[in-house]
Formats: sequence, structure tokens, C-alpha cells
Amino acid sequence: MAWRWQYSDMDPNDPRPFWERKTLAEMNPQEWESLCDGCGLCCLQKLEDESDGVVYFTDVACKLLDLQSCRCSDYPGRRRHVSDCVSLDAAVVPSIGWLPRTCAYRLLAEGKPLRRWHHLVCGDTQAVHAAGISRSGRMVSEVDVPLEDWEDRIIFRSRT
Ligand code: SF4
Ligand code: SF4
Repeated sequence: MAWRWQYSDMDPNDPRPFWERKTLAEMNPQEWESLCDGCGLCCLQKLEDESDGVVYFTDVACKLLDLQSCRCSDYPGRRRHVSDCVSLDAAVVPSIGWLPRTCAYRLLAEGKPLRRWHHLVCGDTQAVHAAGISRSGRMVSEVDVPLEDWEDRIIFRSRT
């Protein structure tokens, strides 16, 4: 599916797209939401090593995550089902060390450009899957895996 960024307040004196022109804190809600690349990695269950605080990602997905599209199946009402679902905002992003290094919010917060497979850059919302960034089709739902087995399903260590 092709998709192009929109919603942005154009600046006649600066032709750059909003994600290059604005800080995270300056973005309007539509711009903010459109930044999410749809990788779904933040919706994977994570385990923290109590000895050193290192966070490990598993391939066990939140019960609301669509295992193919990698999108939340009830984003507006997600807090009713998953009370600890993290809400990102410009102030919170820099403090979450486990955000994937490819996460668009993390990249921009660190002053880095969006990746070339990001839909705002390439115009294709499926590119995040084609590039192998998401876990589309390569994860299981938490409803199918008992908690004691999550440790066997670790796929990578978070960066910080
Ligand atoms: S890791 Fe970042 S870009 Fe990927 S789904 Fe989560 S918030 Fe969106
Ligand atoms: S409730 Fe939705 S947005 Fe929150 S972690 Fe689960 S799938 Fe992701």
C-alpha cells in the first residue's frame, strides 16, 4: 500500500519534510502518529535481567498485536486490555532505553535520519516488513505461550 505523509503545516521558507524540520515536541498529533513505522517491535514481550537491568526482547507478542500487520488490534481502547501499554511522547522517548534502535521516535530523538524503508521516506507501508525489520509472521501471541517459556524465546538484547 502506498502512503505519503500529509497533515503537516508546510513552511514556505523551509521545504524539508516535517520530521526533518520539527523536533518531536513540535509535531502535531497527526504527524506524531504517522511517525510510527509499524514494526511492532515495542509490542513484543520483554524480559529484564534483574542482575544488570539488561532488557531482552522475545518473539512473544502482546495479545492485542496483529501477528501479520504488526499493528495493535484495538489501539484506541488498548489501555482497557493492557494497562501497562507504554504511551510515547516527546518527553518519554529519550528515557526508554529499550526502544529498538530502528524505532523512528528513537532515531529522531537521537538526531538521526529515518531509515530508507520508513514509509514516510519510501511511500510504502509494507517496506518495514519487506526489509525484515518487523517480526511479521515470525512471532507468537502471548496467549499461546506460558510465561515460564518466554525465556526460551529471546531474540535479541536491547541496545541499552
Ligand atoms: S518500535 Fe517505534 S516505530 Fe516500531 S511500532 Fe513501536 S513505536 Fe512504532
Ligand atoms: S496494547 Fe497494543 S500498542 Fe500496547 S503493547 Fe499491546 S499491541 Fe502494542
